[in-house]
Amino acid sequence: MLIKTVLVFLGLMVLVAMLGRAFFPSATNRILRKSVPKAARCRNCGRYLVGRGDCDCKKKA
Ligand SMILES: [Zn+2]
Repeated sequence: MLIKTVLVFLGLMVLVAMLGRAFFPSATNRILRKSVPKAARCRNCGRYLVGRGDCDCKKKA
């Protein structure tokens, strides 16, 4: 009986997730964007900034 309750619980979770996507697509998109942040780019040269706040081109110039 325990397995059955677990299966029902999982089914409800999937159902809620599907309903959430159906009714609040913008909200799920926001969550996805938060989980995968946009890579920061340098405003001058357009290179990706990994870890650092400033690009190397600014320091050189
Ligand atoms: Zn740069």
